[in-house]
Amino acid sequence: MEYEKIVDLAKRRGIFWQGSGIYRPVAGFYDYGHIGAMVKRRWENLWRRFFLGLDDNFYEIQASVIMPEDVFKASGHLECFLDPVVKCGKCGNVERADHILEDLLKESFEGLSSKELTELIRKHNIRCEKCKGHLEEVEERNLMFPVAIGTGKDKRQAYLTGETAQGAYVNFRQMFDAMRRKLPMGLAIIGKAFRHEISPRQALIRMREFTQAELQVFFDPDSIGKHPRFGEVEDYKLFLHPAAGKMEHVACKDAVKRLHLPEFYVYHLAKVQQFYLEELSVPEKSFRLKELSAEEKAFYNKYHWDIQLDLESVGGWKEVGGVHYRADHDLKGHGKVSGVSMSVNVHGKNVLPHVLEISMGVDRNVYALLELSYRQEKARDLLAFPRVVAPFDAGVFPLVNKDGIEEKAREVYEMLRREGFAAFFDSSGSIGRRYRRIDEIGVPAGITIDYDTLKHGDVTLRDRDTMEQARVKISDLPAVLKRFLNGGSLSELGN
Ligand SMILES: [Zn+2]
Repeated sequence: MEYEKIVDLAKRRGIFWQGSGIYRPVAGFYDYGHIGAMVKRRWENLWRRFFLGLDDNFYEIQASVIMPEDVFKASGHLECFLDPVVKCGKCGNVERADHILEDLLKESFEGLSSKELTELIRKHNIRCEKCKGHLEEVEERNLMFPVAIGTGKDKRQAYLTGETAQGAYVNFRQMFDAMRRKLPMGLAIIGKAFRHEISPRQALIRMREFTQAELQVFFDPDSIGKHPRFGEVEDYKLFLHPAAGKMEHVACKDAVKRLHLPEFYVYHLAKVQQFYLEELSVPEKSFRLKELSAEEKAFYNKYHWDIQLDLESVGGWKEVGGVHYRADHDLKGHGKVSGVSMSVNVHGKNVLPHVLEISMGVDRNVYALLELSYRQEKARDLLAFPRVVAPFDAGVFPLVNKDGIEEKAREVYEMLRREGFAAFFDSSGSIGRRYRRIDEIGVPAGITIDYDTLKHGDVTLRDRDTMEQARVKISDLPAVLKRFLNGGSLSELGN
C-alpha cells in the first residue's frame, strides 16, 4: 500500500493528520481525530492488560515529562543522545547524514562516526537534495528538547524526556519500598516522549512528540539464566533474524542453547511475539525480531533485538519497538549522580538490579495497524482492525425511522453502552450505506433493528469481515457480542 494513500485515508476518516493544521504546520507533530484516538487508546489498553499480566509484581506508574538536567546527565542523554547532521553550505537545509546515505545506497549507516559519514558523502559525491549545493562536514546534534523552569534569574535548566523509561528509573527506589520489596519488579509507563528529530518523516513513524509504551523489568542479574515460566514457551518458535545471519524460526530452548541468550530474556521475546501474532493477529510473514549489530545498538545494551513489522508503505521492515537488556547502566548512573543508593536488599543479599526493557512506539504501532488492516474488496474497502483495537465495538442501526423502530434501536444502543460496549448509533442513509461506513472505520459488528425485532425481540448481527449475519435475542446480545469480540465466529454464536 502506498504511503500517500494511508495518509489520505487517515485524514478522511478522522484517524490522524498534521498538528496545528490551520496554521503552517511544523513537521513531526501529529494530532489524532476521534477514530484514531479510540484505536490508540484501545491498543494501549491491550498492551496494559497483556504486559502487566506477565507478573503480579508489575505495575503501571505515571511520571512527569519535564525533568531536571541531572536526570539526563545520569542517563547519558546529554552526552550520547546525538544524531549525525549535515548542512548544505548554499541553502542551509539540514538532514540526517546517515539517512541521506541510506536513501541513496539502500543500506544502513547507523552507528558510523561523523568523520566516516563525511568521507562517504565525499566519496559518493553527494550534494544537497534541495539545491545541489555543497554539503558541509557532518556534525553531531543533541536530540533533547530543552525547557527552562522558572523565570528571570531563577531559571533552571530542564528537558522534556526523550523516553518514558527515565520516569521508571527515577521512581524505582520509591516503588520498591512502597511495594513488596521483591524482584523482579516491573514498572510500566505509557506516556509522551520528545526528540528533536532533524528530519521528521513518514507521518507517525518519525515524530518529534510521540507516545511510548515501555515496561522496565528490574531483576537480580544472578537470576538471568532462569525464568520460572520458561517451560510454557520452551518449544514456542521465535521468528528471529540474527545480526549476522538470516531469518529463522527458532524454538525458545534453542535460542538459549544455540544463540546463547539467557532464559529470562528469551521468555520476554516470546511474550512480545505472542502479543503481536496472537493478540493483534499480525500476519506471521509481517513480523520478525531483528538483532542489532554491535555498531547499531546503544553501547550499554548487552542484548538488543528490534521488534520489526514489514510495512510496504514506508519501505519494508520497520522498527516498532525493541527488547533491550540494559544491564546496570540506568540504576548505576542515577545512583551516582543523585547520591541515592539504588542497591536493594533481597533475601539478605545486596543487589543492584539490572534492567530488561520492553519498549514500543505507540504511534508507529497505530500506523502499522492501519496499513496491515486495510483491505480493498470488489464492493467496498474496509479496515479489518483486530476486534480488540477497533474504534467501536458495534454500530446500531434502525432499519427505518418510523413505526417505533428508531425508539427500539435507541433502547438497544443505550443497553449496550450501559453494559460497557463502545457502540454508536447511526440512522441516516440506506442500511447498505451505513454498513459501508462502519466497514470504512473498522467497526467489527453491525446491529440492525427491524420489524421482526418488534415481534420477536431479536436483532441482526453482522460480521464486518465475512459480511455474514445472524439473528440474536436482545436479551442474549451482550453475552453474544462479548464472545464475538473475543474472537468467536457468528456461525457458532447466533442462528
Ligand atoms: Zn541546499
